[in-house]
Amino acid sequence: MSGHTLPCRGGQEWQPDASPADQAIAVKLCGSCGLKPECLSFALASNQTSGVWGGTRPQDRRRIRREAKGDAA
Ligand code: SF4
Repeated sequence: MSGHTLPCRGGQEWQPDASPADQAIAVKLCGSCGLKPECLSFALASNQTSGVWGGTRPQDRRRIRREAKGDAA
């Protein structure tokens, strides 16, 4: 993902210790990032368990993984 200007570069909102309010800001900003699909794919493939990636919070990615396994509960 190098060679692109990332809105999240250095942003506290994307860090693992960001508050829920800051994470919500990051998720919104990810929405206009051209790297969102590949960023989310990377986060899922590399099992990123913290921070905002590809417009998702950690709990969003856990849900995506559960649903991918067919366990939507
Ligand atoms: S989609 Fe990924 S690269 Fe783009 S702003 Fe969000 S976290 Fe950063």
